[in-house]
Parts: sequence; structure tokens; C-alpha cells
Amino acid sequence: MKFEIAQKGDWSYYSVPGLEAAGIVHGFFTRASPSLEPYGKDGRAFLDAFGLRRFVVMNQEHGDAIHVIRDGEKAVSGDGIIIIEKNVAGIIKTADCLPVIIAAPGLPMAGIVHAGWRGTVRRISLKAVQKMVELGAKIEDLVVLMGPSISSCCYEVKEDVYSIFDNGGFSDRVFRKAGDATYLDIREANRELLLREGVKKIYDSNLCTYCSDRLFASYRRGERGSRQINFVSLKG
Ligand SMILES: [Zn+2]
Repeated sequence: MKFEIAQKGDWSYYSVPGLEAAGIVHGFFTRASPSLEPYGKDGRAFLDAFGLRRFVVMNQEHGDAIHVIRDGEKAVSGDGIIIIEKNVAGIIKTADCLPVIIAAPGLPMAGIVHAGWRGTVRRISLKAVQKMVELGAKIEDLVVLMGPSISSCCYEVKEDVYSIFDNGGFSDRVFRKAGDATYLDIREANRELLLREGVKKIYDSNLCTYCSDRLFASYRRGERGSRQINFVSLKG
């Protein structure tokens, strides 16, 4: 399973074509894509381009609440969405935080999670996996995609964040030391949580939002307004 850049209508995005072929329509948008405001004309065009009926955008909180979206549910607060209806997109917006997509090929469910450092410490990606197992998925069959985020090359953290992860049961592998500086590897932290639980298929885009300013918005780089759109849906 490899990430590739693709284009559909006005939207430029990274995705894993092998997963799309299995009926999990998804994407991690680049900055070349229009911004996506619910109910605006871009929203309508987005639905048409990807063959969708509607989408759900979260009011994100840097917490660990996961919502299973059922009939007609629209506005929810939290940081994780699980889709069980066909042709409905769950959308997460990021700017350096890690977007994680969780698929259960063959089953009518897919999850998407907004994992910043706070959500990662609260194990949000793991909680989404556990919720999908509750709904009937087998953990060893789940496919996890880690989209573009700030990476260990650029994500310097101070002692406070280091201590929270160190005391939170994460291994040394989630940090990179360079001189006096400590860098957090948020992708490795999420990988570690999921591997320990028994997830086997984890695929990493290896894209750093801070390094790739041509492609992605980065809060750290000073972009306060821009957000990267990430979505997952089930083909009808
Ligand atoms: Zn980087």
C-alpha cells in the first residue's frame, strides 16, 4: 500500500489507491485544493467530485471523543469520527497535527482521527480502533494510514511535553535528541500505541507539513488560518 498524489476536479490530494480500490474513498488534501466550507459551493463540488452524499466536519477540541455518525448527524464536537453509512465523508482539519485514517476493508465502517500531541497522549487513535473493534472489526484486519503531519525532523518540544509523553508510557523511540533539543515523533507515538494493541497494517505517508510548505499548511511555520482537509468515506 503506497501513498500517491492524485487529482479529482479541483482537488489535489494524497491517498492510497489500493485502499480506494477496496471501497474506502479517502484523501489528505494539499494546499492546491480549495478550502472547504460546509454548504458552500466548494462543498457541493467536493461531494460531486468524490461521489458523496454529504459530509460531517467536527468541531475539534484536542480531546479524545469519538463519534459514530448515524442518520443525519451533522455537527459534532470531538476529535474522531467513525462513518458507518455509505457515501458520507468524515472530515478532519489539520495544520501540523496528525490525521489518521482507519479502515476495515470488507466491513461498513471507517474512522478518521485528529491526533495532535494532546490527542496522542489521550490515545485517541487507539480509542478509535477500540471503538471499531466494538462495532465488529477484527484488529488484525484494520488498515491504518498516517497522513501528513509535522514530523520528528521539525517538531521540537520543550521539557513539559517531553515529560508528559515520558510519563505517559511512551518509549524513547518517540523522541529524537539533537544537541540540547528534543524532537517529538508524533507518527511513531501513534504507531507504538497501535502496534502494542495488535494493529498490524500501518502505512505512513512520511510527509512533513513543516518541511513541505509547497504542499501543506503548517501552524508552526506561522500559518494560523489555513487548514489541511482530510477525509474518509465508504463507497456506496
Ligand atoms: Zn520536517
